[in-house]
Amino acid sequence: MSWHPHLWHPTTQVATAPEPLRVRSARGSELELDDGRRLIDAISSWWVTLHGHAEPTIAAAIARQARQLEQVIFANFSHGPAEQLATRLSALSGLERLFFSDNGSTAVEVTLKIAWQWWRNQEGVGDGAAHGRRQLIAFEGAYHGDTFGAMALGERSLFTGPYEPLLFEVARVAWPHTHWGDEDVERREQAALAQLEQALQTPTVAVILEPLIQGASGMRVVRAGFLRAVAERVRAAGALLIADEVMTGFGRAGDLFACRRAGIQPDLMALSKGLTGGFLPMGVTLASERLYQGFISERPEATFFHGHSFTANPLGCAAALASLDLLQASPERFQQFAVRHIPLLEDLARHPLVRRPRCAGTMAAFDVETGESSYLNPVGKRIQRLCLEQGVYLRPLGNVVYLLPPLGIRDEQLEACYRALRTALDALG
Ligand SMILES: *Cc1c(COP(=O)(O)O)cnc(C)c1O
Repeated sequence: MSWHPHLWHPTTQVATAPEPLRVRSARGSELELDDGRRLIDAISSWWVTLHGHAEPTIAAAIARQARQLEQVIFANFSHGPAEQLATRLSALSGLERLFFSDNGSTAVEVTLKIAWQWWRNQEGVGDGAAHGRRQLIAFEGAYHGDTFGAMALGERSLFTGPYEPLLFEVARVAWPHTHWGDEDVERREQAALAQLEQALQTPTVAVILEPLIQGASGMRVVRAGFLRAVAERVRAAGALLIADEVMTGFGRAGDLFACRRAGIQPDLMALSKGLTGGFLPMGVTLASERLYQGFISERPEATFFHGHSFTANPLGCAAALASLDLLQASPERFQQFAVRHIPLLEDLARHPLVRRPRCAGTMAAFDVETGESSYLNPVGKRIQRLCLEQGVYLRPLGNVVYLLPPLGIRDEQLEACYRALRTALDALG
């Protein structure tokens, strides 16, 4: 096997990366490779495979929809699957309006454009309070996607370096992430809140955050109380609150949405990864009725001029509806998932190389003791290789190792993941 002559893989340095593994099929929590090997997909294929691979009821819903209506332009037209999905997600999120796009990054771009233009539209009708709101606030370590607006909102990193001059400025507040046995978290939370209050002195359009778990920067978990304190301050300053639930949505953080778990109500929410159960690329942005109304006007320039070719793709909608059916039929699968992680993680946490164990919903993580923590820390690659040899696929973020398996993973498969990790850590010495 060798690198394909015509493909370009994402976030992959061909000069140093091992060649990709060729997959023949997948079922449940398992990938089956061309050479017959089976791997447990311990990270839900970049956090998208929600229930399991090739989940039969979602596959059937997509097939049914494909024979009925596969796609239609969504300006001038509407259809049942889009209307049903909007109705259900509105009821579940407390946000009345749903705008479709194609992935997590575009769902975030749309939150940003709606928030920004909503204030501009207010200026247009002469509300003095709206004037001069230009600032955006995001958190240290944030990741909101790879398109330009999303990159600008995210923490500057190895990923964004080359584009630096093209990224707009964002005010940055500390993210007081915590872990088991953390005794200093209250002080860091207070410091972050003070920083936020300071930043909010400047007229602000919106504050964006990943509720409960920052994903890509290393599964960095904050306490619900911190998020409630943030939401209060944002509200008091009259700014909009944007929840990027692209990773945390659909049960990942232990409730249907992390915002619900944390007890906060955002003005805008971005969803994608788990939306279609991991079958099809689709993103949605949910917005409050108040924001929607701010775009209704006789003035054409108040229109939200944004749209993607595949807006509200019926196949994606059908998959999302079938996935929601599954989630709502067995909420204990995500509500009780942490109970499955905790004893296994407690046990692993006794290993001398395990630092800062943490768990939220379906996600469990720890740092590997190495002295240096960065995305380029090679220890993650070594652990990945050692686990692959044992039939477990994971993809550490530098020295942060995490599991984020499909909801349907069986107990013995989850145990196999922890066993592989222990063996890998032992091998590191
Ligand atoms: C993955 C992710 C995104 C980007 O989603 P894509 O579908 O990869 O564009 C945005 N925000 C968060 C929190 C994510 O985890």
